[in-house]
Amino acid sequence: MSHIAVIGAGITGLTTAYALMDRGFEVTVFDKNRYAAMETSFANGGQLSASNAETWTQWGTVLKGLKWMLQADAPLLVNPRPTLHKIGWMAKFLANIPHYKANTVETVRMAIAARAVLFEMAEREGIDFDLENRGILHFYTSQKDMAHARAVNTLLAEGGLTRRELSGAEVKDVEPALKGDYLGGFLTESDASGDIHKFSMGLARALVRRGATLRFGVDVGAVQTVDGGVRVTADGHDQAFDGVVVSAGIKSRAIAKTLGDTVDIYPVKGYSITVELKDELSRKAAPWISLLDDKAKIVSSRLGEDRLRIAGTAEFNGANLDIRSDRVRPLVDWCEKHFPAVSTEHAVPWAGLRPMMPNMMPRVGRGSRQGVFYNTGHGHLGWTLSAATAEMVADQVAMEIAPSRPVHQPVVARAA
Ligand SMILES: Cc1cc2nc3c(=O)[nH]c(=O)nc-3n(C[C@H](O)[C@H](O)[C@H](O)COP(=O)(O)OP(=O)(O)OC[C@H]3O[C@@H](n4cnc5c(N)ncnc54)[C@H](O)[C@@H]3O)c2cc1C
Repeated sequence: MSHIAVIGAGITGLTTAYALMDRGFEVTVFDKNRYAAMETSFANGGQLSASNAETWTQWGTVLKGLKWMLQADAPLLVNPRPTLHKIGWMAKFLANIPHYKANTVETVRMAIAARAVLFEMAEREGIDFDLENRGILHFYTSQKDMAHARAVNTLLAEGGLTRRELSGAEVKDVEPALKGDYLGGFLTESDASGDIHKFSMGLARALVRRGATLRFGVDVGAVQTVDGGVRVTADGHDQAFDGVVVSAGIKSRAIAKTLGDTVDIYPVKGYSITVELKDELSRKAAPWISLLDDKAKIVSSRLGEDRLRIAGTAEFNGANLDIRSDRVRPLVDWCEKHFPAVSTEHAVPWAGLRPMMPNMMPRVGRGSRQGVFYNTGHGHLGWTLSAATAEMVADQVAMEIAPSRPVHQPVVARAA
């Protein structure tokens, strides 16, 4: 049986391992942490959101970024100190602006396909991850934002997503807990939300049950291609494999470099708070539907009876995980503004680094050397997209490493 190494036990590595096992491979997953999903896949916004597939590669994002440069609590913050990596990455980001529409449509297609695969996986393995299948509600307070939302909606529709435009009153009908006045919104009934860490831990247990080897607390120091295969060196020990899939989050760039590939991931920091709904009033006053406030760039997801996750902000400041109170404050303020009766006494802050490609499209597929594959760089949408890209990369591995195996119908075509 061919044996494949997967580097990284975040959401992309674990779903990749699962898809490889479905195709009959023996799989070993390496992660430097003691448990699955302890880095970016730990406490994100929770949204499985085809409706958030719009890529950021637009002049609007650039102009807002410049405007917000000196505002400490702005949704997007760029540390003006130049580094070669940041400057090069930003130049490529600008060069991708002409592909904004095509990449947005392609992302929606992947996101729609991914949801179905992920739900099937959870059902098959009995994974409880506080899934809420109520949809995602985007809401707006200005005509300008509503007009942009309508334009984006035509792209999302082109990718196959069905959404419903709502009046301000309808927004409040859909989520009565939401306080304030709204001009309108969009409801995407097919979107969902859930706890990425809980899902990942459940999937890791399922992989072990199915016979995969999960090696935690093991830092992969080197990956080399050798005759007819790959050698992985972890904590000083070498192990031979028929192939490797790199799903190492923000570390994929450095690993790719040693393998002769450019995978230009920049770590884009974001924050979340998990509001513990300890009293009855807070539990009643917190929303159940997952929300996206497009102007503030903040999302929320209810994780079971007693947790509300609120996430947002994008910070270009290198691989820095410091939790800054001036960046967390807007998330707490947002909660207090929209859900005034929810107690924010127990709000647990977290920061994570989105592994972002300059075109905002994940890097999925083979590398330049035989036996090397990537499934990484999912940026702001890794939870949403991972189940689809796992299928895509596993199909490629099966085609190149074990060509005699039956090739599944491509996942995006399957969902269409
Ligand atoms: C604030 C915030 C909110 C977000 N909200 C959403 C959302 O609502 N919906 C959505 O779809 N996405 C969201 N995202 C994005 C999503 O969380 C990420 O895209 C996704 O978690 C990335 O998963 P990953 O597996 O690529 O990386 P990671 O989860 O970081 O996993 C990479 C793993 O590789 C391991 N590793 C790296 N190098 C090595 C090595 N040398 N040896 C061994 N192990 C190694 C690491 O330990 C790590 O566990 C959000 C992100 C942030 C920061």
